[in-house]
Amino acid sequence: MTKTVLITGGSRGIGRATALLCGARGWNVAINYARDSEAASSVVAAVGAAGGAAFAMQGDVRDEAAMIALYDRTIETYGGINGVVNNAGIVAPKSTVAEMDVERMRRVFDTNVLGAYIVAREAARRMTGGSIVNVSSAAARLGSAGEYVDYAGSKGAVDTMTTGLANELAPKGIRVNAVRPGLIETDIHASGGQPGRAERIGALTPLGRAGTAEEVAQAIIWLLSDEASYVTGAFVDVSGGR
Ligand code: NAP
Repeated sequence: MTKTVLITGGSRGIGRATALLCGARGWNVAINYARDSEAASSVVAAVGAAGGAAFAMQGDVRDEAAMIALYDRTIETYGGINGVVNNAGIVAPKSTVAEMDVERMRRVFDTNVLGAYIVAREAARRMTGGSIVNVSSAAARLGSAGEYVDYAGSKGAVDTMTTGLANELAPKGIRVNAVRPGLIETDIHASGGQPGRAERIGALTPLGRAGTAEEVAQAIIWLLSDEASYVTGAFVDVSGGR
């Protein structure tokens, strides 16, 4: 069956890798992004080249109207939605809690928590079955002391939402799970002022290296697929044993 999957933050990193694997399965993909339209266009082309179909649409996950418009367009274009990858997220520069200003904390919580809840709420309203995959983080377990405890807490909220929503939506035949990536080579580390972070700390994990966006995407694709038909409310750690 040709699935339709909506991916927030689908233009780069883990979202991009997931879009490409959806394309390889011949699925339809709605790619949301915030700013980088060139990156989003390149994912649309790559999904098409891989055998799927895609469109890209700008929209900040914090913006309720933009997310409603994204779901509207996806349903108009492809006739329904079978999967949502609730992936868009940000970090902030390394800081202790004592040093954090409220503006930074607001940005992190608004994007990673409120944004994820808006995207999940629309999925709950629109989907009649299928699978939602929330992209959390190993930080939810580890706490990220001295780096970004605000970010870790925001991902803790994503984990709690995953548990609650899985129970709420199970009677509708909608599965809700989370992946918790560890140290993955994407631009997110540079955006937080630490470009070498994944390689540096990844070397200290049991598997001795950072992971790739595609390794996370493989877990997401499995949770989206019918092969995971009895999996809901689960957390899949893709973190090299850390
Ligand atoms: P990334 O490479 O920085 O890509 C982030 C993506 O999210 C981009 O497509 C970006 O679009 C989009 N985005 C950012 N803010 C947005 C907003 N407000 N509204 C809509 N889209 C927005 O990040 P990544 O490493 O792939 O991370 C993806 C997810 O995995 C995040 O939730 C992150 O917390 C989680 N994660 C990552 C790691 C890691 O090591 N990489 C580890 C654990 C968890 P633009 O390019 O247009 O801004």
